[in-house]
Parts: sequence; C-alpha cells; structure tokens
Amino acid sequence: MSDEFKVYMDKDIDKSKILDKKIAVIGFGSQGYGQSTNLKDSGCDVVIGLRPNGASAKKAQALGLKVMPIEEAVEWADVIQILIPDEVQAKVYEEQIKPHLRKGQYLMFAHGFNIHFKKIVPPADVNVLMVAPKGPGHTVRSEYEAGKGVPSLIAVYQDPSGDSKEVALAYASAIGAGRAGIYETNFKEETETDLFGEQCVLCGGLTALLKAGFETLVEAGYSPYMAYFECLHEMKLIVDLVNQGGISDMRYSISNTAEWGDMTIGPRIITPNVKQEMKKVLSEIQSGKFATEWLEEYNSGMKKFRELEKEGEEHQIEKVGKELRSKFTWVDDSNKIINRAKN
Ligand code: NAD
Ligand code: MG
Ligand code: MG
Repeated sequence: MSDEFKVYMDKDIDKSKILDKKIAVIGFGSQGYGQSTNLKDSGCDVVIGLRPNGASAKKAQALGLKVMPIEEAVEWADVIQILIPDEVQAKVYEEQIKPHLRKGQYLMFAHGFNIHFKKIVPPADVNVLMVAPKGPGHTVRSEYEAGKGVPSLIAVYQDPSGDSKEVALAYASAIGAGRAGIYETNFKEETETDLFGEQCVLCGGLTALLKAGFETLVEAGYSPYMAYFECLHEMKLIVDLVNQGGISDMRYSISNTAEWGDMTIGPRIITPNVKQEMKKVLSEIQSGKFATEWLEEYNSGMKKFRELEKEGEEHQIEKVGKELRSKFTWVDDSNKIINRAKN
C-alpha cells in the first residue's frame, strides 16, 4: 500500500488519548447509538447530549447511557462528537453548541458536510476533526459485538492543540475501527466521495437497480416472489462474497453460465451513459449544488423527501420482501441489526 494511504491498526494507537477524556456524543440515531455503546464498552467516559424528553433519550437510557441536555454535555466534555442529521447540525451548533464551546476542545464529526460546505465555522482555538465509519451506525455496533469493526476514516481540519490526529485515532480505535483499518483523509475528500458513493452506487444506484430488475420480471408476468429472490434476496449473498474475496472470488463461486452473463451483459446495463451521468452527479457534489438543494428541501419542510420515502415504502418489492423474510426461521427481532424500538 502506498505511503499516502497508510493504515492504522489498534497496535499503532495510543488509547490513553481518548481514555483520559470526557466524550459527549450529540444525538442517538444510527451513528450515535453505534459509536456511544462501543465507546462505553471500550472503557470511555461518555454521555449523550440530547433533547431530554425525546424518543432517543429513552433508548439511550435503556441501554445504560447517561443523557444530558446538549448545552450541558458540551460544557462537561473534552471531545464533542456531532451525530445528529447533517441538515440540522448548523442550527443546533449555532444555538446550543457554539455558546458553550471553550478553547482546546475537540469538535468532531462523522461526515465533513457542514465543515466542508462552511455551514459551520468553528472558532480557531477549537480543534476540528473527523472519525467517519464507512458503514451504517447499527453495523458499527453489530460488528463490534462480533469482535470485528467497521473501517473508518479520520481527518483533521484545524489543530490548535497539536494532537488532534492522535485523538481521532484513539476515538476510532475505541469504536472498533482499529480491528479493521483506519485511514487518514481530509474533509473535502471524505465529503465528496461519501456523497458520491451513497448517491451513485451504495444507496441510489443499488435501490434503482434492485427495483428496475424486479419490475422488469413482474411486468413480464413472472411471480413477484421469484423476482424478489432473483433481484433482491440474492444480492447480499453475492455481495458477501465480493466483500470477502473481491469480484474474482465471487466469480469463482458462481456457475460459468452466470460468469459469462456477468461479464458480457453487465456493461450493457451499466452503459457509458450511466458513467457519464455519474460524472455529472460528481460535479454537482463538488460545486455545492447538491448541498444547497438538499438544505433548501430541509428548510422548506421536507415535502418531496417524505413523498419519495412513502413511495419507496409502498413499492411492491417491499411488501413481497416483508412477507418472504417472515418465513426465515432465523430472523426474529432479537437478532436483527436494526430494531426500531430499541436502536
Ligand atoms: P440520525 O438521523 O440517525 O440521527 C438522529 C439523532 O439526532 C436522533 O438522536 C435525534 O433525536 C437527533 N436529532 C434530530 N434532530 C435533532 C435536533 N433538531 N436537535 C437535537 N437532536 C436532534 O443520524 P445519522 O444517520 O446517525 O447521522 C449522524 C451523522 O453521522 C451525520 O453527519 C451523517 O452524515 C454521519 N454518518 C452517518 C452514517 C449512518 O450510518 N447513518 C454513516 C457515516 C456517517
Ligand atoms: Mg453519508
Ligand atoms: Mg441464479
């Protein structure tokens, strides 16, 4: 691996850089839940900053975590990890965090959005850093509990104390990332590549592909149950192989027929036009167009957001999937990564 992409593992990291600090995790959603429970189990002194009577506060307390109002948590802490949604961070920062910040604190993010697009501009005497797990927050927890970890990025934006990188590494290690690999980047690179990945491949590209395949089979008269298994259920089984051993190991396991279809038909589906559109999406991320439009949607009441979310939930693929998954003998609420009542 090249020098610019150095990997840090637990053995390279001085954990005292986080064990000697008080950590306020602001928010208890996907990442707030995953990171704070791992920090606690790694021996860190952690509290959750939240609206005291909200739904998240009850979940956090039920898991044995201490909850404080955001303002108090900021005053109490040395390290403040902001894990509320990107679109609400600037307002909460101005009203509840900034007035309570002091020199030498470590203000941390899990995504560079607000710092990179200058929606939050912290004082120069506060350290600004990032620990960004490359996976969903619930998985940050489930992997840690399984003795594994989610690879994470760290970045330093400003460093008046001179040890922000060491603090970021120690924090990343405490959430389990030092078992998988920690990589250093910068706020610009993390923000732009993260947005691109989730829009074009991981979430947007994936869900559009799943639905297009499912709809094609159903519209041709095939059973929606068959379409679900072929176009959605098997996706994870294939991706697990790719994730563990690369595309080559996946191709080693599938039939020669499937492999020939993979290699010859794939490029007819993801055509040069698709890549052309990806480049356009990337330039809209880089110019700040996407960020501006997303914050406009948030500030005008999220009407389109809710409409699209509802449309997605009502798609036939979701109904069929729910029915089929209920037949799997090993799935129950106690072992699902996401249990909406608890995390
Ligand atoms: P989320 O939507 O799951 O967080 C919701 C939490 O924020 C809840 O505890 C809620 O009570 C609190 N909250 C919402 N609005 C609030 C307000 N106005 N005031 C106070 N608290 C409020 O968030 P998330 O998806 O975990 O994202 C948190 C950060 O982590 C973001 O910067 C995101 O980009 C980043 N990130 C998320 C993931 C992920 O897995 N979801 C992965 C990597 C990075
Ligand atoms: Mg993201
Ligand atoms: Mg097959």
